[in-house]
Amino acid sequence: SASDTPLLPMNFCSDCGQPVSLKIPDDDTRLRHVCSHCGTIHYQNPKMVVGSIPLWRDDERVLLCRRAIEPRHGYWTLPAGFMENSETTEEAAARETMEEAGARIELKGLFSLMNVPHVHQVHLFYRAHLLDLDFSAGVESLEVKLFREEEIPWNDIAFPTVSQTLRLFFDDLKAHRSGQPFGVHSRDIRKRMRP
Ligand code: ZN
Repeated sequence: SASDTPLLPMNFCSDCGQPVSLKIPDDDTRLRHVCSHCGTIHYQNPKMVVGSIPLWRDDERVLLCRRAIEPRHGYWTLPAGFMENSETTEEAAARETMEEAGARIELKGLFSLMNVPHVHQVHLFYRAHLLDLDFSAGVESLEVKLFREEEIPWNDIAFPTVSQTLRLFFDDLKAHRSGQPFGVHSRDIRKRMRP
């Protein structure tokens, strides 16, 4: 049954409109939604969420956005969002940073890769330098603001991938001051067990 699979619900075929059913196709090992009429197999795969860590020069402040949308309305996040078809991850990071924070950035290297298997997502964050201070909240943000490490509202960060990325980033920033290169960090974020 559907409760045994990580699939999102689907009732009708997006190709022909007829009902779909759950079955394991030939030469496959997992349940899929398969159209009873045209035979299309509707595969579901993880989505990419891509964002940036915009840093303002040498004063070591990072730009965060306060979310104007659900989920996590009112909580702070790095600028990030779903990657679109036919763009690269770097284009997605720059676009989301412009849309959510009105900020122009120069992208640096990839910094973190976070698997979030229970929500079927992979989050990527790039280091970035703000080109100027002419940023402003986009329609999906209530406000955007620069934070030093000690000013980060750790209890009001929207997502664990963002708080983990920020902690890793400020650690690397300290190491960077003594000449170390920035790392690339891969983490798996598991669903928190209910007490
Ligand atoms: Zn169909």
